[in-house]
Amino acid sequence: MALFDRGVEIKTPEQIAAMRQAGLVVGRTLEALREAVRPGITTGELDAIAEDHIRSSGATPSFLGYHGFPASICASVNDEVVHGIPGDRVLAEGDVVSLDCGAIVADRTGRGWHGDAAITVPVGAVPDEVTELVRVAEEAMWRGIAAAHLGGRVTDISAAVERHVRSQGRYGILEDYTGHGIGSAMHQPPNVPNVGRPGKGPRLVEGLALAVEPMVTLGTQDVSVLDDDWTVVTDDGRWAAHSEHTFTLTSTGTWVLTALDGGEARLRELGVPFGGVTD
Ligand code: MG
Ligand code: MG
Repeated sequence: MALFDRGVEIKTPEQIAAMRQAGLVVGRTLEALREAVRPGITTGELDAIAEDHIRSSGATPSFLGYHGFPASICASVNDEVVHGIPGDRVLAEGDVVSLDCGAIVADRTGRGWHGDAAITVPVGAVPDEVTELVRVAEEAMWRGIAAAHLGGRVTDISAAVERHVRSQGRYGILEDYTGHGIGSAMHQPPNVPNVGRPGKGPRLVEGLALAVEPMVTLGTQDVSVLDDDWTVVTDDGRWAAHSEHTFTLTSTGTWVLTALDGGEARLRELGVPFGGVTD
């Protein structure tokens, strides 16, 4: 049983270890998808690759059936920001696709633990502004993670994400969709907004795990949900990028559970101590 402190689930080291296993499944699945993205492949084919990869790893896709979601990944193309449903859409040269993946791994008691991450991948050659958009969203995620330390507050992350995006040019940052706590469920308190002032929200403590996921656009931050009740698109049709990792804080530093190296390389570049257990 995990402890809850004011709605925030505090994981034991053993439970975090199970989340690391889920995170590795997610990270490896996303790398397989990155390799598979090319002009001519459908988002449905990417979903099949992901489901096969997750299940053959002994894990369960967390998205499949989540509030009725019909697939194992979200695949959001161009002006679709998040929650795109994989299907017959054929990726074309010059597109950009956000791939969001979640997996569940059971601990020895049979309880399931989640990992959640997303990457945005150019399909072949894309315009420079799209390459830059993808880079800004990913870097903002890392800056957000790097801003988290024991004793800090959740919106320290939000402020760092926003500060980085704003420093890079005129971009939209979605405010109606946020990162989130994660553990025995994919989405838990607290929300992790991508904008805001630092020093607010729950305190960052050992055993907390958070998914940080900036959603950045080339135009407006205003979005709508399509008639499929899932796909979130920009109102101005400008393109979007989305980047996500699940991380935790240990007594020795930061551990990015969905990064294959635990985040060690990027954290070092950002001057943040790596707090992971070497696999
Ligand atoms: Mg996700
Ligand atoms: Mg998420």
